[in-house]
Amino acid sequence: REALYGWLDQRFPEPVARPVRSSLVVLAGPTAVGKGTVAAHIRENNPDVMLSVSATTRAPRPGEVDGVHYHFVDDAEFDRMIAQDELLEWATVHGVHRYGTPRGPIDRAINEGRPVLLEIDMQGAFQVRRSEPRASLVFLLPPSWDELVDRLVGRGTEDEEERARRLRTARTELAAQGEFDHRVVNDEVGRAADEVVNLMQASAR
Ligand code: 5GP
Repeated sequence: REALYGWLDQRFPEPVARPVRSSLVVLAGPTAVGKGTVAAHIRENNPDVMLSVSATTRAPRPGEVDGVHYHFVDDAEFDRMIAQDELLEWATVHGVHRYGTPRGPIDRAINEGRPVLLEIDMQGAFQVRRSEPRASLVFLLPPSWDELVDRLVGRGTEDEEERARRLRTARTELAAQGEFDHRVVNDEVGRAADEVVNLMQASAR
């Protein structure tokens, strides 16, 4: 298992950090890097930040609450949301289930002057950039490749086949980090969360 740094930094250019803050920040990054934990930390400590709740066709995991963690919908409902243009972006993630970002709550939050945070996969992040060029794309990095593997195994929510699939996806995703506006290393949740919050601002509208 090779170290993440060294070979990755040599092959991929650093993103050019944008000086401006954005009212729409997209947090993406490889599987098990801790996107959900960082996003939850931001929400708890910054009540003004609107954390988008995605729709998904996957089943709830134990402890997940409909409308809080996700809007759990069936395929027909997801098809309807696409057809009626209710999703800002959507993607099939890890080749299995569909996930999408409802547009309405985001527009409302931005109109209220609240910064919005999206915790979505990379295909979704680039779709958001296409429809909202002012969105800021943040790539969350693990401190090392080993750490990423340990976290995925440690959380124990996927079987071995699913873990292998997610790690393959992670390699592809790590290779695209240079296309993001900012990179944040998730070495410590509170620190990483602060770094992301510093990239956000209330909209000027
Ligand atoms: P999980 O099933 O583990 O909750 O999420 C799997 C992946 O789906 C994660 O990488 C997560 O960021 C991504 N995801 C969650 N919601 C959305 C969404 O609305 N759109 C997209 N494109 N990806 C999402």
